[in-house]
Amino acid sequence: MHEKDPFGDKLKDKERAEEDLYFAKRDRELLDKIRGQDEASREVTARDLAKGRCPRCGDRLTHRSIERVDIDECASCRGIWLDQGELEALSRRESESWLGRLFRNSLVHTR
Ligand SMILES: [Zn+2]
Repeated sequence: MHEKDPFGDKLKDKERAEEDLYFAKRDRELLDKIRGQDEASREVTARDLAKGRCPRCGDRLTHRSIERVDIDECASCRGIWLDQGELEALSRRESESWLGRLFRNSLVHTR
């Protein structure tokens, strides 16, 4: 039986709060920077602001490891984002699962 780990949860809450402060400070600095910039520089700053954020809802992504594959997960919309090669790694490991079949079929269709 797995017991809940209140100490581990508190540690995660503390890390999350520290990350929130870091990202709030970073966003404030980038928003200050965007004022008075030309269009090309604004594009660069906008990309910096989007880093580490969910492409669907804009909330901050958190890193997690599932089956030794690193994922970025959104706590708000529950979206999961994979880096290049990670879907392949997962599908190879789960070759007989729906994910493996989906990936194999999509490879067939793209040839
Ligand atoms: Zn999201």
